[in-house]
Amino acid sequence: MIDLNTKWKVYSPATGKEIGEMAETPLVQIGFIYDRSKQAFQLWSQLSISDRLVYLKKLRLLMVEKMDEIAEVISQDTGKVKTEAIVADIMPTIDGIRHIEKHARRSLSRRKVSTPLLFIGKKSYIDYMPRGTVLVISPWNYPLLLAMVPIFSAVAAGNTVIAKPSEITPLVGKCMEELFLEAGFPQGVIQFAHGGKEVGAALSEQNPDYLFFTGSVKTGKVIGEAAAKKLIPCTLELGGKDPMIVFKDANLERAVNAALWGGLTNSGQVCMSVERVYVERPIYAEFLTLLKEKASALKQGTTLSDDVGSMTFPAQVDIVREHLQDALAKGAVLESGMDPNGWNIGNKLFLPPTILSNVNHTMKVMSEETFGPVLPVMPFDNEEEAITLANDSEYGLNSSVWTSDAAKADRVSGRLVTGAVIINDVLVSVANHNMPFGGVKQSGIGRYHGVDGLRIFCHEKAIMKDAGKKKSEIQWYPYKGKYELFLALFKEYFSGKTNWAKFGRLYLKLLKISSKNENERL
Ligand code: NAD
Repeated sequence: MIDLNTKWKVYSPATGKEIGEMAETPLVQIGFIYDRSKQAFQLWSQLSISDRLVYLKKLRLLMVEKMDEIAEVISQDTGKVKTEAIVADIMPTIDGIRHIEKHARRSLSRRKVSTPLLFIGKKSYIDYMPRGTVLVISPWNYPLLLAMVPIFSAVAAGNTVIAKPSEITPLVGKCMEELFLEAGFPQGVIQFAHGGKEVGAALSEQNPDYLFFTGSVKTGKVIGEAAAKKLIPCTLELGGKDPMIVFKDANLERAVNAALWGGLTNSGQVCMSVERVYVERPIYAEFLTLLKEKASALKQGTTLSDDVGSMTFPAQVDIVREHLQDALAKGAVLESGMDPNGWNIGNKLFLPPTILSNVNHTMKVMSEETFGPVLPVMPFDNEEEAITLANDSEYGLNSSVWTSDAAKADRVSGRLVTGAVIINDVLVSVANHNMPFGGVKQSGIGRYHGVDGLRIFCHEKAIMKDAGKKKSEIQWYPYKGKYELFLALFKEYFSGKTNWAKFGRLYLKLLKISSKNENERL
């Protein structure tokens, strides 16, 4: 049932052409969506992990078959070049499914853990129980990856999912919905709600059993507050202002190429973009010259031989403009690109790759998330200063350290307050599903990918088992005659030089007293 009044037209940000039409999910349907989800959970959560993985495998194979088609939709909807759609949106998504197919059984199966000697005769386990309905709200910059990974992780763990993709890239939302449908997931297991912040807010004000949000710090705080009011557990994957530290002993050409790609890929609209470049002073001038030279060779456009695509969202263009105007007004030097006052953008959102020097931390471009094709470069004089500058941020998502000295790399990375540190490379850690992903400080709360990727969507349930044959336990009532024995037993046990024969005698005495007390009571 679709309300015809809530359709909106979709335009490609790279060409300005109309590329489709979307219908917003009417708010009155949200209650039904939740009902269906809770109902579907009853059956889905009872399937074995292997049975659930059959559906994930179908989804993976379907995505492999339709890879080019999906890349086309992503490219049209976001303005990113198709090469970036396939390399950074599709590949890590499919690899994420494969990771789950490989690891879900081990990750979600009952885990035996040891039982302290004081609880002799018992066994201990941890069970992973699906939570229920998971609400996944996702952004527009990697509209496939950032929606799909939490969706299929939650589903593999036995939950049902309601997904609210970004309204800025709705055709990717529609494409994901069709993929799940075609892969044959049972009705109600994955449902999509389309629309903007009103739909997102209405969904998060219901009662999901878990909320997984990826987006801006501003919205993350609104969502976190809504979740906190109802004590709904959540993961918040938010923005970044990632530093890149280049020491004078780094492979200079590699570092320059990485800065260029790390700062400009996806037009800089990456939560882990290189947003601040700190270069050790002896190589600063050479680094800057090479960076400018290489930036000038980049091609912008929409074809397969182009490097940099368009921006995705007009409001983001305004933020980039504001950051550049602020920086230039405070004395930054435009090394490449164009003064934003001269931009003539219209409905094709291409921004010139921009390099800035003479920057400092009073500028927005060095302190707030720019999320555009902008590389501010700043010199530093020593290791301590580089660490201080890198950590001088409200954000803490990712960072990179560039040096040929392994000890220095470890020393510096150990002191960076970020969710990930990459040595002599950029961005790649997000595509390694064996590692946790997430931020510190304003960059978010929680981790996914890795072992946590599935387990966050489960209640971790502690199970302790006793054979149930004894009448009583030593610590149960009545306490008569036990205190002195417990005192001696615990002192022996925790002394660090336990006499196990003595420990055994004390334990047996406690057992005897327990059964004597028990008999006297009867
Ligand atoms: P956004 O916060 O504006 O929107 C994200 C999603 O939230 C969208 O689906 C939107 O419709 C929805 N939304 C907006 N207001 C809402 C509300 N009040 N209640 C419920 N839902 C609401 O973010 P964006 O502009 O789409 O994405 C860009 C931001 O996302 C950047 O800050 C970027 O750094 C961040 N991001 C973070 C990660 C990460 O993994 N840490 C990854 C990608 C992007």
